[in-house]
Amino acid sequence: MDYLVSVVEHLDAETGTGPREIKYGVLHLQAAAEVLLKSRLLREHWSLVFSDPAKATSEKFAASDFNSCGTDAAVERLRNICGLDISKKDAAALKDLGKDRNALQHYGLTHSAEAVESRAGAVLDFLLRFLDAELLPLLDETERDSIKDDMTRVRSGLHSINGFVTERMNRLRANELKGTTDSLLPCSVCGQWALAVIPNGAHCHFCTTDVSAEELAAAFQEFDPGHPANECPQCCASTMACFAFMDGPGDEWFYCFTCQARYKPDELAGCTGCGRLWPHGREGEGTTQTLCDDCRRRIEDEELASRW
Ligand SMILES: [Zn+2]
Ligand SMILES: [Zn+2]
Ligand SMILES: [Zn+2]
Repeated sequence: MDYLVSVVEHLDAETGTGPREIKYGVLHLQAAAEVLLKSRLLREHWSLVFSDPAKATSEKFAASDFNSCGTDAAVERLRNICGLDISKKDAAALKDLGKDRNALQHYGLTHSAEAVESRAGAVLDFLLRFLDAELLPLLDETERDSIKDDMTRVRSGLHSINGFVTERMNRLRANELKGTTDSLLPCSVCGQWALAVIPNGAHCHFCTTDVSAEELAAAFQEFDPGHPANECPQCCASTMACFAFMDGPGDEWFYCFTCQARYKPDELAGCTGCGRLWPHGREGEGTTQTLCDDCRRRIEDEELASRW
């Protein structure tokens, strides 16, 4: 709880969050996450906090002479052994926090303060829910009383961090993001719907991250995950993916992150010659077969050659 109180003190947007506040906010949040997750593991069995439970002995545990498991392993054990329901989203937020912490330790701040604030808010939110559901019920009344004031302080601190995020998003929606909801995507760095597509990629207005067309195409290839992104009929770059923008839930587009061409899925069909996606045969061509420009040219050349 002491770590968590420190987190909300450092990340309080009202008093201003400089690089130093962000640094200690993240370090202490990571420390809090580790302590809280492990204390739940301890309640299950003490051997579960060893990095390798197979090598656990009660002597080593009593002497605190062992390497303990990391946050990722703790989450996995809480899920698989304790049967806790930790959502994918929460697990991902904890993983991101671990990365933020390592980056801060070695390279200083690698994401904008806004991004770290938003990510930290998501983890803090999870930890409070985790405390409520998994740890507080295991405490006796005296223990619960002893942390009551800290819990209140942390809850109101989270409120202020979330308030910062909401306020900034509202301001962006009224200005930079106005009228752009048909081209907004969720940002993988800060988690906000503030990633606006631009030629050759996208820019996040919340955390100022720039993402390349290639990265985006791979990330948003929801239609056929793992399959390489499609080649764009307009610019030929392999950066066309099929997904839904913010404005249209279920309203999917084939969108090219390089040249910004977009097609409704039923506007495209596989080319009869090579299989690449291509707009349906155009009007007046009297054919239901779809041929891309390359294949059309090849067939015309072959026909010409056969005539001579
Ligand atoms: Zn962002
Ligand atoms: Zn294109
Ligand atoms: Zn073709």
